[in-house]
Amino acid sequence: MNWPRAMLTDSGGFQMVSLLHLADITEKGVTFQSPVDGKPMLLTPEESIQIQNRIGADIIMALDDVVKTTITGPRIEEAMYRTLRWIDRCIAAHKKPNEQNLFGIVQGGLDPVLRDICVRGLVERNLPGYAIGGLAGGEDKDSFWRVVAQCTALLPEDKPRYVMGVGYPLDIVVCSALGADLYDCVYPTRTARFGTALVPEGVLKLKHKAMAEDTRPIDPTCSCMVCKNYTRAYIHCLVTKDAMGSQLLSYHNLHYMLQLSRDLHSSIIEERFPDFVRGFLQKMVNAECERSRKERDS
Ligand SMILES: [Zn+2]
Repeated sequence: MNWPRAMLTDSGGFQMVSLLHLADITEKGVTFQSPVDGKPMLLTPEESIQIQNRIGADIIMALDDVVKTTITGPRIEEAMYRTLRWIDRCIAAHKKPNEQNLFGIVQGGLDPVLRDICVRGLVERNLPGYAIGGLAGGEDKDSFWRVVAQCTALLPEDKPRYVMGVGYPLDIVVCSALGADLYDCVYPTRTARFGTALVPEGVLKLKHKAMAEDTRPIDPTCSCMVCKNYTRAYIHCLVTKDAMGSQLLSYHNLHYMLQLSRDLHSSIIEERFPDFVRGFLQKMVNAECERSRKERDS
């Protein structure tokens, strides 16, 4: 990869449950059908850590028992306790604790009692960082933000707190206000491939025919290479016909997310975080009001 900066690898549990059919979880590990030849394969907590030790990322993730957020009942409890049992197998298998940071993952669905047991169990293991897992799977925002708030309140303040699979710019601002530090999400590049740009007002859909003669940059306030060199009209031309459209939008969207993270960071350091959050929300809400007014008038 020749990537000279910080790197994180995931354990593979989430990917198997969400992307592969016929994943079967037992105490031993996750059995799944190989995407190559269809043969059954078993990923254990030990093997996940061995693979991540070989890759050598700065942060490696524990193998957890992942369940979809929308599932309810005893399966949630079983997965949470298994995640706690597996963390000890991950810790025991980890061969480079001085070079690589193993993060534990809090599970427990939307149940505050289970989340509480899981957070306390992981904190007892004194890990270098903690992730909040099992969210961003279709639950409503109220439940999602409540779980994040509960977990960040219990996790140590001097260790990184990582909300997995999040998210939208709004979620990142809200979760940061709730005390989270770290995120990952396919949204900025996936939505780029669908022709959507992230802007301070929300989103801009480049496929829309109104873009065809719009000679402004995607975001006039953005300093990225794409906004300095290309018009909305040009990207509109590319977006459904040429891979370059997706690439230019991905570049801009990643720049937007990096800038948002930097702005969040500096507003905290400079002790003006509440003002930053108010300003961020104001722009989105104003644009939303404008849009609905236009829709009403037309
Ligand atoms: Zn830009």
